[in-house]
Amino acid sequence: MTEDNSGYPPTEKLYFENAYLKEFTARVIGQEVRGGQRLAVLDRTAFYPESGGQPHDTGFLNGIRVIRVEEENGVIFHYLEGELAANEVRGQIDWERRFDHMQQHTGQHILSQAFYQVVKGETLSFHLGQVESTVEIDIQSIKDVTLFQVERLANDLVFSDVEIKAYFLSEDKIASVPLRKPPKVSGLIRIVEISGFDYSACGGTHCGRSGQVGLVKVIKQERIRGHVRFSFVCGFRALTEFKHRLDWLQAAAHLFSSEEKEVPTAAARTLDELRSLKKKQQRLEENLAIFEATEMLARSQSKIISGLFPDKSPGELKFLALQLVHRAEVMVVLAGLAENSFHLVIAAAENLKTDVRQVIPVLQAEINLKGGGSPTLVQLVSQEKDKAEAALKLVVDLLKEQSGLK
Ligand SMILES: [Zn+2]
Repeated sequence: MTEDNSGYPPTEKLYFENAYLKEFTARVIGQEVRGGQRLAVLDRTAFYPESGGQPHDTGFLNGIRVIRVEEENGVIFHYLEGELAANEVRGQIDWERRFDHMQQHTGQHILSQAFYQVVKGETLSFHLGQVESTVEIDIQSIKDVTLFQVERLANDLVFSDVEIKAYFLSEDKIASVPLRKPPKVSGLIRIVEISGFDYSACGGTHCGRSGQVGLVKVIKQERIRGHVRFSFVCGFRALTEFKHRLDWLQAAAHLFSSEEKEVPTAAARTLDELRSLKKKQQRLEENLAIFEATEMLARSQSKIISGLFPDKSPGELKFLALQLVHRAEVMVVLAGLAENSFHLVIAAAENLKTDVRQVIPVLQAEINLKGGGSPTLVQLVSQEKDKAEAALKLVVDLLKEQSGLK
């Protein structure tokens, strides 16, 4: 057993030869525990390691779960949930996961070439995610109609069902291949050729024919680092995505009692109605507050007017308080209740030449309150909802004491 990878020979990579290999046999070269995790090195493997934007495979070695696969200096490490007892192993890769990765990865090559042909946009990076994949393209922006041309071209190529093959070329022969991008590695370079369409230097796993990629669809675009990053889905992911989006759209159509294609119009109309109702409601509330203010002043025996309004928002309370102090030489304390808090508005008529802020420190000694304001208007809020009535009474007493008003 070796403590590090320096003693291991490079692993034979069966996925280079055949990306469709789901099961294989191999010999165990070594096992070790690293950072509490058990690792195995084989003489050969079909497990693809995390690399080049493509996630690693998962699966089993002699029935023991392979949870992660990494490559270091040509040696492939299989992270296992247990120890391998035998020296000969049978490996099985999680084919559903791998084929999904092959569809997304091959779809990326096709999409990248389509972007290049339609808008001369070079691919700067690629990431294959759990739900969607992304390519960052070296362009500033793209029109919807042009993006659709890119998608049309990519899907034309898919439906043409052309052959895709991978082979190694030595560096001196690389000039004979019209690569989309210069290779990042030297020595023997692996070429992935999508017949008559795209040549890329790539060490990933790909479909054998373009038809296997299935639908290629861009689902989002965003500006990043001065470029555009496109999220896309291919194959079964495109099917799942279509299902989800249709579910959402149908749920919205059901809510609006409309046809699916009418949802945007129905939503816009509903929002317009909502905005106009809110305006109307505000006007009604203001009218009501003016009426309430008049009523309260007529009824009140005191120059200090107070009241608890369970349903009024802080904005409504403030409006009512201002109506009161604009109409008479009074001081006003209003409290409103919210789900887990209460708010207070304290106001005074300008002519009284008082500063209602004086009550704040006394109040804060009794109740945990936040807020502030001007000499004639203070707004406070407290999480101690059960103390709303006590706060109201305390402020009334303090204002009476400070102002001498009755
Ligand atoms: Zn590739």
